[in-house]
Amino acid sequence: MGYVDLHIHTSASDGVMTPSEIVRYAKSKGLQAIAITDHDTIDGVSEGLEEGKKIGLEVIPAIEVSVEYHHGSMHLLGYFIDIHHPLLNEKLKELQKARAERNPKMIEKLNQLGIPITYEEVLKVSGGGQVGRPHFAQVLLEKHYVGTFQEAFERYLKKGAPAYVDKFRFTPKEAIKFITEANGVAVLGHPNTLGLNGPNDLEQLLINLIQEGLRGIEVYYPEHSSAETAQYKSLAERYGLVITGGTDYHGIDKNGVDLGIGKGEMRLPYSMVEALKEVRNSCKDSGGRSG
Ligand code: AMP
Ligand code: ZN
Ligand code: FE
Ligand code: FE
Repeated sequence: MGYVDLHIHTSASDGVMTPSEIVRYAKSKGLQAIAITDHDTIDGVSEGLEEGKKIGLEVIPAIEVSVEYHHGSMHLLGYFIDIHHPLLNEKLKELQKARAERNPKMIEKLNQLGIPITYEEVLKVSGGGQVGRPHFAQVLLEKHYVGTFQEAFERYLKKGAPAYVDKFRFTPKEAIKFITEANGVAVLGHPNTLGLNGPNDLEQLLINLIQEGLRGIEVYYPEHSSAETAQYKSLAERYGLVITGGTDYHGIDKNGVDLGIGKGEMRLPYSMVEALKEVRNSCKDSGGRSG
């Protein structure tokens, strides 16, 4: 049994490599399975699945949805989604519309701040995929308005910064529902970005999300400390949640994170995929879904 990486971005969202390139890179790293989890889009999944079939790497159709949350950021992962499901596609269209409305407003704000970049320049670095803030950061960096990618977020793009514009998001309940209806398994991504104060807050949140249909938690993630990892693992065990993990690889050198291994220490066993499949099948067998 080999190793897996269940959190990866491609050029369909803000990753650098195309889905085919990611699949080939994963194969070259000796991985057995990967999940393509682009932000708010499934546009890279078909290409990834095809390439995986061609070269013998299991590709799991998946997504990462940013949802409304009053503290920090909440990202929900959906594994084994049916990418042809009408409700899923309808909901994702709404998210694309929200981006199409937000992005020109961010250009306007940057222009008002004396930074004359154009949307065409941002589109160009996005390579034709869905446009996100990392593409704005890339243009700011290339045109020397900032010295580093991170500085672009700090000075202009992060929540509360002068060029930031909020966009519509679904509530966690809504996202869990459309993931689940599309036969996917809903998993809470990187809980350390939720901005919670301690284990009790996370526990209460999990209890609520489980009622809405949450089935797993991303325990292994490059930015989780060992204490956080242990805390998330014990909550997963207490509530019978599937434990997942992944590198959140974007193809850019971000804190030395690489596909499949994170900062060098990650080794995620294929049994994680089996656990996800078991949950998905148990829902199918019961003829319906909770939440
Ligand atoms: P968007 O979906 O357009 O709002 O962009 C969100 C993406 O921007 C995230 O998934 C990250 O890849 C990146 N991002 C968000 N905040 C930061 C930050 N403070 N520093 C670096 N990258 C960030
Ligand atoms: Zn991203
Ligand atoms: Fe995320
Ligand atoms: Fe991600």
